[in-house]
Amino acid sequence: MKEIVAATNNPDKLREIREILGTKFSILSLKDEGVSVEIDENGLSFYDNALIKAKTVTELTGKPSLADDSGLIVPALGGAPGIYSARYGGEDCDSLLNRAKLLKEMKNIENRDASFYSSIVLFFPDSTVVSAEGEAKGMILKEEQGTKGFGYDSLFFSFALKKSFAEATPEEKNSVSHRGVALKNLLKKLSE
Ligand code: IMP
Repeated sequence: MKEIVAATNNPDKLREIREILGTKFSILSLKDEGVSVEIDENGLSFYDNALIKAKTVTELTGKPSLADDSGLIVPALGGAPGIYSARYGGEDCDSLLNRAKLLKEMKNIENRDASFYSSIVLFFPDSTVVSAEGEAKGMILKEEQGTKGFGYDSLFFSFALKKSFAEATPEEKNSVSHRGVALKNLLKKLSE
C-alpha cells in the first residue's frame, strides 16, 4: 500500500484521515516518521496553510504528505473563527475555551448558520500538488449536545445528519463532514 504522512499533530484529525483513507493508503503519523515539528501556520487562507504544512512535512520526510487545514465559519461573526479556529479562545487555548468563546460571541445572535470547511493538500516529493475541498452546513447550538468528536463538534448541528457532530458515530460524521467530503473529492481527483 502506498504511504502518505499525515501532516498533523491533532490525533482526532489523524484518526478521521485514517478512517476515511485507511483502506486505500498506509497513513503514517509524524510520530511514525520520528518527526517532531510545530509548523507556523501563517498563511492567509485554509489552502495556504494546508500547503505550508504538507510541503514542510514532505521536505522533512521525503514522502508524500497530506495536510488538512480546516475550521468553522460563522457568517454572523464575519466568518470567524475561520482560519483561526484552533486558537479562537487565545494562544495556547484548548477546545473547551474555544467553545466557551463561541457561545459567548453568539449569545444575542439570531442567525446561527455556520459551516465547517476543509482544504486538503497532498504534496509529493517532486513538488506535485493535488488539492481538494469540502464543506458541511449547519448551525451553532445554544448549548453543547453530545460527547463524541472533538473541537467544535458538540456545538455544530449538522443539517445533513439532523443532530450534532458530537452525537454522530464516526461513520455518520465522516459521510457528511467537511473533511470526509474533501478527502472523497481528493480520491476522485487521484483516480482521474
Ligand atoms: P487547524 O486546521 O489545525 O488550523 O485547526 C482546525 C481547528 O478547527 C481545530 O482545532 C478545531 O478547533 C476546528 N475543527 C476543524 N475540523 C473540525 C471538526 O471536524 N470538528 C470540530 N472542530 C473542527
